Amino acid sequence: MEDKRKLVHSRIVEKATNEALQRRGVTIEDIAEIVFEMQLPYNADLSMDYCIESVESVLKKRELQHAILVGIELDELAEQGKLSAPLQQIVQSDEGLFGVDETIALGAVYTYGSIAVTTFGHLDKNKIGIINELDTKKGRGTHTFLDDLVASVAASAASRIAHKSRDLAEAEADNQQIISDESEIAKKEAEKIITDESEIKDEPKS
Ligand code: MG
Repeated sequence: MEDKRKLVHSRIVEKATNEALQRRGVTIEDIAEIVFEMQLPYNADLSMDYCIESVESVLKKRELQHAILVGIELDELAEQGKLSAPLQQIVQSDEGLFGVDETIALGAVYTYGSIAVTTFGHLDKNKIGIINELDTKKGRGTHTFLDDLVASVAASAASRIAHKSRDLAEAEADNQQIISDESEIAKKEAEKIITDESEIKDEPKS
């Protein structure tokens, strides 16, 4: 019999998460595009590569991986008509008052703080990019959970960039301060040497 307590290795969970997203037609780039749009107003130097890196990084978090696996599983089961009534109908029709899809996705962003929470709220309301394309009511297939999960990943990656940008700006400012402090010290030392030398010169020869 299989040992129920046996832990699943993180690598397996990460691989399953990436495969599930791929299977459901969501690429890292699709999510990174949303991140780019969300963070560009605050970060003029932002690049798509940086957004992609941020999405890849948040996808390594267990909170997000677990939420994605649960949500996608339910979407797929609903698509195959395998849920029991009345859940089957509720998930399949993306019932507006269901709310569990948003709750699972929102629960996964908390590690990334308040910026992630507010960004998630924004994306939930103004479905942009692939989130809009995934809308179950608009397109084919059941994506009741997936649209919220994509918003969750994008919001987390956007928040990560916001915090990292501040860290970078502060580190740069600290470096500038160190450089200017050092040059100030060097200047003072140079002045002291010149003064000392002229004092030596001025000393009366005995
Ligand atoms: Mg939904």
